[in-house]
Amino acid sequence: MHIHDLLAGEEPKFSFEFFPPKTEAGTQALFASISELQSCLPSFVSVTYGAGGSTRSQTHDLVARLRKETGLNPVPHLTCIGHTEREVSQILERYTAAGVGNILALRGDAPAGAMNYEHRNDAFPHAADLVKFIRRFGERHGHSDPRGFGIGVAAFPEGHPATPNRFLEMDHLKAKIDAGADYICTQMFFDNRDFYDFKARCELAGIHVPIIAGIMPVSSVSGLHRMAGLAGGCRFPAKLLKALQRAGDDPDRVRRIGIHYATEQCSDLLQHGVRNLHLYTLNQSAASREILLNLGVIHRDGTHCRMTA
Ligand code: FAD
Repeated sequence: MHIHDLLAGEEPKFSFEFFPPKTEAGTQALFASISELQSCLPSFVSVTYGAGGSTRSQTHDLVARLRKETGLNPVPHLTCIGHTEREVSQILERYTAAGVGNILALRGDAPAGAMNYEHRNDAFPHAADLVKFIRRFGERHGHSDPRGFGIGVAAFPEGHPATPNRFLEMDHLKAKIDAGADYICTQMFFDNRDFYDFKARCELAGIHVPIIAGIMPVSSVSGLHRMAGLAGGCRFPAKLLKALQRAGDDPDRVRRIGIHYATEQCSDLLQHGVRNLHLYTLNQSAASREILLNLGVIHRDGTHCRMTA
């Protein structure tokens, strides 16, 4: 089922992001987290694609396993970087065969160390080119859904650092929707005003697909510093930094602050009518479960309670 269809209706929807683990122990830990999160009834779970396509087969294998062994609806991320049309076709054929219904289409981060990566030399220089290709592929290749794959794209409420011109950036986002994308998932943000303003700018630009808000509960101060260095890195409000400063180097207090802050963010978003929230889990279940428990979405035993908007 397309994510766009799953997000219809007034009830708030939650989803989770995972990354493919590099080790067997990591895989076991991830599946333990997944079994904890399954009862929260996420509308979908997404699986990242390593920078430069470095987790190509791991992403596929994890998605195929989730399809086969769980009742979850997995959405693989797929990036343009370094891929030929033939390679992307092969990947899409495998996802079609595995019964995968949706893809998050991205340009992708350059491989580690490739600071001056030339995207224009790729078969798909921008995510919009990949969206167009996936849309045409699905229509031609007997996908179980006659519309082909549901296609999501990324957006950056605070702006992508590679495009300082925010008018052009909205044009590029609109180009992805016009190419066939049917929902947007945002980069994490820590000040909801950035999201509300972004949503209003989407409306002005004629973008009317569902927008899923990306929320990352802070789990450690070192993690926060790592995030700050990533492409598309975001702003950390003083309110959050002051709370973390009070926690000092006590990891449990930092974790509790992260959960509290993310709960407040989600609660405010829900009150403002934002119905689709995507939690970046870092393959852990505890923080996401606590946030959903605080919001009244799940019971203490992890089972889902119905919620109205
Ligand atoms: P695009 O939409 O192609 O935009 C990239 C840049 O090019 C932007 O600055 C845009 O304004 C500009 N641009 C777009 N079209 C044009 C044009 N026609 N002419 C000139 N400039 C243009 N990365 C990974 O490697 N793996 C992942 O799994 C992954 N998952 C992500 C999930 C989410 C929800 C988000 C928000 C990001 C994710 N990323 C991932 C990071 C993302 O791939 C990078 O931030 C990348 O730099 C931007 O990707 P995009 O899909 O928005 O690219």
